[in-house]
Amino acid sequence: MNIDLTTEELAFRDEVRQFLAEKYPEEIRRKRLDGIPLEKDDMVLWQKVLNERGWFAVNWPVEYGGTGWTPIQKYLFAIELAEVNAPPIVAFGVKMVAPIIYTFGSAEQKQRFLPDILASNVWWCQGYSEPGSGSDLASLSMRADRRGDHYVVNGTKTWTTLGQYADWIFCLVRTSSDVARRQEGISFLLIDMKTPGVSVKPIITIEGGHEVNEVHFDDVSVPVDNLVGEEGKGWTYGKVLLQHERTNIAGVANSQYRLSRLKEKSAQSVHGGEPLINDRNFARKIAALEIELKALEYTELRTLASVAVGNAPGPESSYLKIRGTEVQQSLDALMMEAAGYFALPYIPSQYGLDFPVADRIGSGSETSTSLRYFNNRKASIYGGSNEIQKNIIAKHVLGL
Ligand SMILES: Cc1cc2nc3c(=O)[nH]c(=O)nc-3n(C[C@H](O)[C@H](O)[C@H](O)COP(=O)(O)OP(=O)(O)OC[C@H]3O[C@@H](n4cnc5c(N)ncnc54)[C@H](O)[C@@H]3O)c2cc1C
Repeated sequence: MNIDLTTEELAFRDEVRQFLAEKYPEEIRRKRLDGIPLEKDDMVLWQKVLNERGWFAVNWPVEYGGTGWTPIQKYLFAIELAEVNAPPIVAFGVKMVAPIIYTFGSAEQKQRFLPDILASNVWWCQGYSEPGSGSDLASLSMRADRRGDHYVVNGTKTWTTLGQYADWIFCLVRTSSDVARRQEGISFLLIDMKTPGVSVKPIITIEGGHEVNEVHFDDVSVPVDNLVGEEGKGWTYGKVLLQHERTNIAGVANSQYRLSRLKEKSAQSVHGGEPLINDRNFARKIAALEIELKALEYTELRTLASVAVGNAPGPESSYLKIRGTEVQQSLDALMMEAAGYFALPYIPSQYGLDFPVADRIGSGSETSTSLRYFNNRKASIYGGSNEIQKNIIAKHVLGL
């Protein structure tokens, strides 16, 4: 594959660099550098900055506010964002529900929801998993029973990422049990989180963060107008979305940035000692990871090229998910090795200190290494676990 950049592509890269130099908010840059978790306002601010330039909905069709960029432009953009350590975009609105709405939704739904997603005025979350229905998602049991022009929704969604901030949730719900295949009884429903009967309970993850939730639905009344596409076709729509999600999870550009940070860090001498990079075994691990990452980069470019000619990301999104998250977790482990005891979580209350950040474990870029290490164990689970991705490859690629 020829990836020499044309004059136009180089000019585009310079334009992105200049934009980031001028517009990437200093307060966000600082927090990212110090390993301080971003608040909702930070994420919304950054997304609005991108949108003002027309660079937020990178993959949308131009008619709805997308960029019309080539795969190479998208790739260069992602690399430049990673170079400044910009925060990832919150995917649920712009990358997940929006493609479903503009592909399968009604004209009214497109008009109603897409502009607010583009402007980051409305925060979305994803309601697929349920207690007892994760890998075997088709077993989901949250019911939506039709009563005239409304559905009455009852059940529980779980692991709902950033649901505590959400204005809306897109859900897979069971509208019928009287079907030949379980998948045929599933529909795709948009639910306003302010509707009476919706409640959100936090789940605290191993590193002490509040990122995921349980969302309960107790006789929640949802207008039939909020059904996307046809009743009973939600599984087909949801599957398209999952393939987009998996491609997004690979995080190649971000891993490239982190690998360069790892090299920098491990080349530093601590307390006058020998830099870690001089340890041949450590250097070998870095080299092996770099080779993996390069291979992944080319796989991602191939997928982008295929999507550019109109194909939906197919089962290759499963390779990207598996390898991408394996690389991320190997990087997390090497980062921990490089940071050594500096990565120990810092809990102010242990020292009798009562900082406003006391409910958050750790602060500072080194301690954030361990927070990230523990938090990112999730990467091989969410978006469909890596074991399930291997099953998909076995069935759809190897034909087993
Ligand atoms: C941090 C985090 C954020 C998440 N965010 C969201 C979200 O926003 N919205 C949402 O809907 N969901 C979300 N999820 C849920 C996620 O998609 C599920 O956790 C995932 O699909 C696995 O389902 P489960 O947790 O029920 O595990 P299970 O399905 O019970 O699996 C348990 C283990 O068994 C293995 N396993 C299961 N079946 C098979 C099989 N057939 N072959 C081989 N191995 C198998 C799995 O790989 C796993 O290791 C999130 C999860 C996490 C951890």
